[in-house]
Amino acid sequence: MGNIREQTLVLIKPDAIQRGLIGNVIGRFEMKGLKVAGIKMMSLDEAILREHYAHIADKPFFPGVSSFMRSSPVVAICLEGLDVVNAVRLLCGITKAREADAGTIRGDLAMSVACNVVHASDTVENAQAEVKRFFNPDDLFNYDKSEYMHVYVEDERS
Ligand code: ADP
Repeated sequence: MGNIREQTLVLIKPDAIQRGLIGNVIGRFEMKGLKVAGIKMMSLDEAILREHYAHIADKPFFPGVSSFMRSSPVVAICLEGLDVVNAVRLLCGITKAREADAGTIRGDLAMSVACNVVHASDTVENAQAEVKRFFNPDDLFNYDKSEYMHVYVEDERS
């Protein structure tokens, strides 16, 4: 059984900020039964983007990604739940939004590879590093969520 306190990092990207989709995106995570452990709006600089996107830093499209991600603030969210890294990646859909499954965030809300509404950590290991990158320990909250009684059965909660 996985860990109910597993955490992942989501960024609501500038296209979604400009299109007024913050509430829609957060609503989908809330409706799924995930706990918001931390949330903040922030402007990203070149240094944090180089670190965050190290795996694509030598791609020809990286300068475009970097300037897009700096074109407005983003909303960073730390979500918590059982197998949350995988669950959130499934909710987000594949990178190329116009081919993402209907019902997913990218599938429902976007058409682009670059402007694809959200970032979500891809592995548990990367999620731990990414949560630390965007949140200080004081920005994260540990609290009981009463709906967990109805989101999980007992053996999933322990
Ligand atoms: P994901 O965000 O789905 O994990 P990647 O880590 O491969 O995808 O890429 C990071 C981000 O870089 C993507 O979300 C997208 O915004 C951008 N990106 C990826 N591939 C391209 C591309 N071919 N052209 C433009 N932007 C891209």
